[in-house]
Amino acid sequence: MSDITGIHHITAISGDAQENLDFYAGVLGMRLVKKSVNQDDPGTYHLFYADADGHPGTDLTFFPFRFSAPGKLGVGLGIEISLAIPDGSIDYWRQRLSEHGAKLGEEEVRRGERVLTLSDPHGQHLALVETADERQFTPWPRSPVPAEKQVRGLHAVRVWERDLALTASFLIDVLEFSSYGEENGWHRYGVGGGGSGKHIEIRELPDTPRGAWGVGTMHHVAWRVADEGVELKMRERVAKAHRRPTEVIDRFWFKSVYFLEPGGVLFELATEGPGFTADEEPEHLGEQLVLPPWLEPQRDAIESALPALRPAAEVKG
Ligand code: ZN
Repeated sequence: MSDITGIHHITAISGDAQENLDFYAGVLGMRLVKKSVNQDDPGTYHLFYADADGHPGTDLTFFPFRFSAPGKLGVGLGIEISLAIPDGSIDYWRQRLSEHGAKLGEEEVRRGERVLTLSDPHGQHLALVETADERQFTPWPRSPVPAEKQVRGLHAVRVWERDLALTASFLIDVLEFSSYGEENGWHRYGVGGGGSGKHIEIRELPDTPRGAWGVGTMHHVAWRVADEGVELKMRERVAKAHRRPTEVIDRFWFKSVYFLEPGGVLFELATEGPGFTADEEPEHLGEQLVLPPWLEPQRDAIESALPALRPAAEVKG
């Protein structure tokens, strides 16, 4: 059994921050639980969307790089992020998304689950997947989406790889994932039964060029571990497999280790705690710009360089 218990968060690169906020909070109805900056580039926001409590497994985060080029889909890159929606809510979502002018794709059935594909305003491929699986989830009362229809969290990630066997053996032998078979060319690997929030799907495309990060692409997927002790144990396994993990990095809301899986997708291990209430009151998450302590002395300069953000239109005040 793996020490990983599922997806912790997913981070992607978007365009304009306000457009990103209007879509994820205003249309998808997720809660902005943290407004911070990219720690390596404080001129860029880092926006975190999740359920009301910011549970691990519900959190989708973005670096809105206003002036970046679009990314390029290809092997070694996450190519679709899927979000869990409640069973029976897909018609609601299709209607809501079309009313807001979202770019909808075809409806699909994947392993018996109904799926609505779409692109966000900056070209990120998304899928809303109906699931009856139990999820750790707290509805957000101020969401424009009624509680019984709200996004339940991250469902899965889909990646393209040049060599399936290379990544599969890493997932199975090192991270101790299980294989859950194949459907329509997508091979599923996961933990704890592989249900909602607990799997990755891989398509092997040996002749496709390598993908490149940019606006509209996934940056990394973080896998959830209980605490730093478990994280260090997993880190050892990754290091022994020559994947050169980073040291443990303190991200304040969780502790992180980064490495590339053999196909080139950036993975992270992230601890469950301390969580997004470590530095803000639960009822005021995401309202103020939060900076790491070493950037606090530069707060005025940083704040004035960032584009102003107004709350998404339909979010209740
Ligand atoms: Zn991360």
